[in-house]
Amino acid sequence: MPEPSILALLDAALAADAEATAVIYRGVHRSFCWLDRRSNGFAAALVAAGLVPGERMLLCLQNVPEFLVALLGAAKAGVVTVPVNPMYRRPEIERIVADCEPAAVVCELAHADAFDTSVRFTVGDGGSFPQTEITERPVKGPADPLMLVYTSGTTGRPKGAVISHANLLAGAEFYRSQADLQAGEPILAAAPLFHVTGLSGHIGAALAAGAPLILSYRFQADEMLDLIERERPVFCVAAITALGALIDAPTFNPARVTSLRTVFSGGAPVAPAMRDRFRMATGLTLRNVYGLTETVAPVIACPSAPDAPVDPATGALAVGRAVRGVTVAVIGEEGAVCPVGEAGEIVVTGPSVVSAYWRSPQATQEAMGALGFRTGDIGVRDADGWIYLIDRKKDMIVASGFKVWPREVEDTLYQHPAVREAAVVGVPDSYRGETVKAVVVLSAGAALSADDLEQFCRKRLAAYKVPRIIEFRDGLPKTATGKILRRELRS
Ligand code: AMP
Repeated sequence: MPEPSILALLDAALAADAEATAVIYRGVHRSFCWLDRRSNGFAAALVAAGLVPGERMLLCLQNVPEFLVALLGAAKAGVVTVPVNPMYRRPEIERIVADCEPAAVVCELAHADAFDTSVRFTVGDGGSFPQTEITERPVKGPADPLMLVYTSGTTGRPKGAVISHANLLAGAEFYRSQADLQAGEPILAAAPLFHVTGLSGHIGAALAAGAPLILSYRFQADEMLDLIERERPVFCVAAITALGALIDAPTFNPARVTSLRTVFSGGAPVAPAMRDRFRMATGLTLRNVYGLTETVAPVIACPSAPDAPVDPATGALAVGRAVRGVTVAVIGEEGAVCPVGEAGEIVVTGPSVVSAYWRSPQATQEAMGALGFRTGDIGVRDADGWIYLIDRKKDMIVASGFKVWPREVEDTLYQHPAVREAAVVGVPDSYRGETVKAVVVLSAGAALSADDLEQFCRKRLAAYKVPRIIEFRDGLPKTATGKILRRELRS
């Protein structure tokens, strides 16, 4: 028996049918054999560049075939991949670089200037990826790190979830079994590959099933609809904003999406009305699933039947029931398990849940205690085991499924010399779910327009974090000790 690893998944797919399609991009179908050879070449290049097992490689790409080549190539060389969002601006990338100290970086040619690392592989200049072969693979066990995925980012030191081969395999298996994926049945990569959803629900699931993965650079509803019609995927997982955009696109027509059998929505709340609209439009049951970067795959998920119930008290649609092999506990302030119907923090354990943050023993200890991983989400469980999310312990904003931490945006606003005080909150938004609003107090005598402040943020923050609404005020509500009351601003 080979050790369970992402490479064992690739080997199994190769053994089953090496010429079967592994990746579809811009109408070109590439086989598992192609993926194997290209990733061998890439592994050889990493070794030739002096990288040794355990060193890190930053992977900053959109959904393109080279993402898979680089990830598998790095795994073959024993190198740990650190996927990062290509929308990130330089300061956001620099914090991750400082934390994980990558020895190599893979990015688009156009982004190469953002990286100072000496070993760079660029994509988009006519396929300069190396072609030589690697002959030996370092022996790596299932508990060895495959990837570091940074959580959406509080301020201070970023937290990289250390994802082992075993974690990824457990995540891949969740999707393969829950969506009943079979060899040769295409999967639509609607979520970004740099997020755990893409890593386990697209790459992992496709390798585990021996299924083709349909890529399309970035999500665009029209393009996705064309792809669904042409390549006929059976499965996709995405944030609700993306799924909503799909059925709202002017070119949508139910006849175009008949190949889809299973659709998961994760990462952001789903309104019960949205699930109903999706069913009206497509005839499909949208299955709500819940997970975090640290859990790699959903740990709470809705089955294909029965329909997820709605909590009568809060009107929230259930996020599902505990996934097989996962334990979910709702824990009160004192650490005791809450009875049915009582709200508490959701704490989980399971094979896909990571056991550490990169070089952060303290953060690891705080989040990953004896009871399991503390999610920071507040939920309730009903008598039938359905779980509803009702609040967050954390201050995070969820905009189109992307996570925004108010502190990071506030820190950026404070960098502007005219800003004296700033508070950032999430406000309801019919399209993005929530959107980012900044309330700003200017320094005495300073003049600054909302447009200029927005431009200032745009240079320093990924677009989804930039405040869409900026309101100037004379003062902010504070506690007696001077702490800004974000919650009060929100309401
Ligand atoms: P991330 O680490 O970017 O995957 O974000 C994880 C967070 O997304 C969780 O802590 C939740 O707050 C939120 N989340 C994930 N899935 C759902 C869901 N199905 N419904 C509501 N919020 C969700």
